Amino acid sequence: MRQSHLFTKTRKEAPSDETSKNAQLLIRAGYVYKEMAGVYSYLPLGLRVLENIKQIIREEIHREGGQEMVMTALQEKELWEQTDRWDDSVVDIWFKTELKNGTELGLGITHEEPLTRIMTSYISSYRDLPQYAYQFQNKFRNETRAKSGIMRGREFLMKDLYDFSKNEAEHNEFYERIRGAYKRIFERVGIGDSTYVTFASGGIFSEFSEEFQTVSDAGEDLIYVDEEKGVALNKEVYTDAVIEKLGLDKSALVEKKSIEVGNIFHLGTKFSEPLGLQYTDEAGNKVPVYMGSYGLGPTRLMGTLVEVLADEKGIVWPESVAPFRVHLVGLNLDDAEIRDYAEGIYSALTTRGVTVLYDDRDVRPGEKFADSDLIGIPYRVVVSRKTKSEGIFEVVERATGEVHSLSEEELYQKYIPEAEE
Ligand code: ATP
Ligand code: MG
Repeated sequence: MRQSHLFTKTRKEAPSDETSKNAQLLIRAGYVYKEMAGVYSYLPLGLRVLENIKQIIREEIHREGGQEMVMTALQEKELWEQTDRWDDSVVDIWFKTELKNGTELGLGITHEEPLTRIMTSYISSYRDLPQYAYQFQNKFRNETRAKSGIMRGREFLMKDLYDFSKNEAEHNEFYERIRGAYKRIFERVGIGDSTYVTFASGGIFSEFSEEFQTVSDAGEDLIYVDEEKGVALNKEVYTDAVIEKLGLDKSALVEKKSIEVGNIFHLGTKFSEPLGLQYTDEAGNKVPVYMGSYGLGPTRLMGTLVEVLADEKGIVWPESVAPFRVHLVGLNLDDAEIRDYAEGIYSALTTRGVTVLYDDRDVRPGEKFADSDLIGIPYRVVVSRKTKSEGIFEVVERATGEVHSLSEEELYQKYIPEAEE
């Protein structure tokens, strides 16, 4: 992609009402556009990152048998009344609207109810189970606070996965597999080391659920970590009773601010019973389906990566989610010979399958370098009069600042995408 064709431009300042680091940097670099507090559009650069994050999630969920679908944002009041989650006194974050005839509707906050109802059309026998379905979909929540940038949206993307199992044992087996899938996802996006699986309150079907919490001062949550044992708890289960039960030592637990990037939850028959999702077991008995739900916010995760990995110059994307692998910065391009040469390097890289943002703009070198640091692409390669005459390319790693001098052939070999290596 030619930077001169990109409709977004970097900005020196973020909107004055934007206080979060993630949104400030993402807006300044041209990844997102702030529509209003808690509501952001994803621009071409931002969409590329989001799609990379989604693809990693998809791969790991598919590995465990998840089937992708997409449900509707518009939701029927009557469905949510059956599980007592419609009334504002029970769920206070609904955005509600109505049809011309006065029928009330809500914009989906989550999708246990609609998916459970869908499944009543397809599940009737033990032979139909288990089933694992998930989606990526915008959720709408009238969040009171929207001060965390894209990490707490009023409209935001969620990956929500649900299991429909014959019994608790079958559900637990899938739950364990998804815990593993989540660990792989957070490792692949570069925050494995700073992300803990924490014990959280579990609801009526189990004592605990688990959350994936990434340590960051930008977090809205507090967790208590025993670093030696690698165990962590959420504030709401940080009681004397629980600490003892888990065999932990209260002096050893360190309080940390953290961001909830995902959670895994035992639902039991909480939704299948009121919505009539039953199956006939081997003995001919009608039994409610046993369920679990697994949330993960790709947009919150994108904001978390910015919070955790950015430095004072700007965003630092891990290679796995970066919008492009190489930022090719062209200098001296007013010289036709150098421009031809730079174009040649650009097309040689792209024809080899490397994703490249090519800064072919007519602006000063200092501005190009500052923008490149802000945008945060993993490898910056300068192509200029000097590289042409010397045949040596200077490659700077955004994350470490390390500089490598490579020949043209080494450049092509080194920057072929990993999958093709
Ligand atoms: P929180 O306690 O932070 O409000 P939650 O308990 O409401 O989160 P869930 O309803 O379980 O979270 O949502 C599943 C996942 O969706 C979360 O783990 C998080 O990654 C993401 N998520 C939740 N709310 C938001 C939001 N307002 N903006 C962006 N992502 C969100
Ligand atoms: Mg919430």
